[in-house]
Amino acid sequence: MMVYRFPNDLGYFGDFGGRFIPETLMSALIELEQAYKLIKKDKGFNRTLRAYLADYVGRPSPLYFAKNLSQEIGGARIYLKREDLLHTGAHKINNTMGQVLLAKRIGKKRVIAETGAGQHGVAVATACALLGLKCTVYMGTEDMRRQRMNLLRMRLLKAQVIGVESGSQTLKDAINEALRDWVTNVEDTYYCIGSVVGPHPYPMMVRDFQSVIGQETKEQIIKKEGRLPDLLVACVGGGSNAIGLFYPFINDDVEMLGVEAGGTGLDTDRHSASLSMGRPGVLHGSATYLLQDGAGQIRTTHSIAPGLDYPGVGPEHAYLRNSGRVQYTTATDQEAIQAFKLLSKTEGIIPALESAHAIAGAIKSARDRAKQDIIVVNLSGRGDKDLNIVEEMI
Ligand SMILES: *Cc1c(COP(=O)(O)O)cnc(C)c1O
Repeated sequence: MMVYRFPNDLGYFGDFGGRFIPETLMSALIELEQAYKLIKKDKGFNRTLRAYLADYVGRPSPLYFAKNLSQEIGGARIYLKREDLLHTGAHKINNTMGQVLLAKRIGKKRVIAETGAGQHGVAVATACALLGLKCTVYMGTEDMRRQRMNLLRMRLLKAQVIGVESGSQTLKDAINEALRDWVTNVEDTYYCIGSVVGPHPYPMMVRDFQSVIGQETKEQIIKKEGRLPDLLVACVGGGSNAIGLFYPFINDDVEMLGVEAGGTGLDTDRHSASLSMGRPGVLHGSATYLLQDGAGQIRTTHSIAPGLDYPGVGPEHAYLRNSGRVQYTTATDQEAIQAFKLLSKTEGIIPALESAHAIAGAIKSARDRAKQDIIVVNLSGRGDKDLNIVEEMI
């Protein structure tokens, strides 16, 4: 079997990835790439990160056999990787701890980030509060209205939140502003990206920081079942929780399924299914699948899950889709809500709406599988943040 080794030195996963950025940022990205290569092998750095992940974040997260859910579905056995139990309630903290620690290590005084629903903003602000770095978060003013609780959290964590009035006043406008800030202040400022997107080395670096999910899962399932799982399932927004689970199994005989947001249906234009319905293009620094209209303009997207509502996807997923190594499907808003309710009812676990898409995908797969098959679903976050949305839907 061919050993999987991506990205290449220029940051490409096959035809996808790369560095499509203003010339003024090139040296900063090369500096970051070199710093990352050094700390990746640095025993001191890794010891410090591991200690924070254990004592502050709460790792390892449990791998839980969802017996009631499995019985209800009546197919394969479903395990849940409980990233919802981590500090701040989702997997995003794995990445922000790694990156903010790296920022501190290379002497940056200030961290900037952009956030849509506010989940990444909160995770960055948390790591900066802990490690004593200044934090500025860009957020569309429309998102600030919709996500008041996360705005409040970031402010309590002493992050400066800058409202972005331009465009649709949402995530993609906030990204543009953050990039503008970085170009201006690149000397003392670190840009912390929240998923496996953006220019090289971010997709690789974020993948590596999130791979702790899959590494733990591998050890845990071997301990519990004495073998590897048959199928891994995760939701795909930018793709960081999915690749974090998948990557440590990439050379193993294990099937993988990514679930994108089908919104109100793929036959409507209200969804965020970049891999299923998009075409290759360039956005926010890398080549990947994008939702775009006939003229190449980025289309507006929709998902009931705020964290899946993005017109692009990480370049590594674009490669994994084309190579056939990973299968991708979609779950609609309605299917996610049903999975949300079913998991709450059967297991007493209220999942994030993003994670509910993964549960919906796993339920469909489990039905067609033998009873001895093992499915591991990444439960990327907890659902407290989504109760308002669910209340409106039901
Ligand atoms: C942000 C978020 C996602 C989507 O991001 P990925 O990079 O695709 O993982 C999924 N689940 C939760 C709980 C999130 O907060």
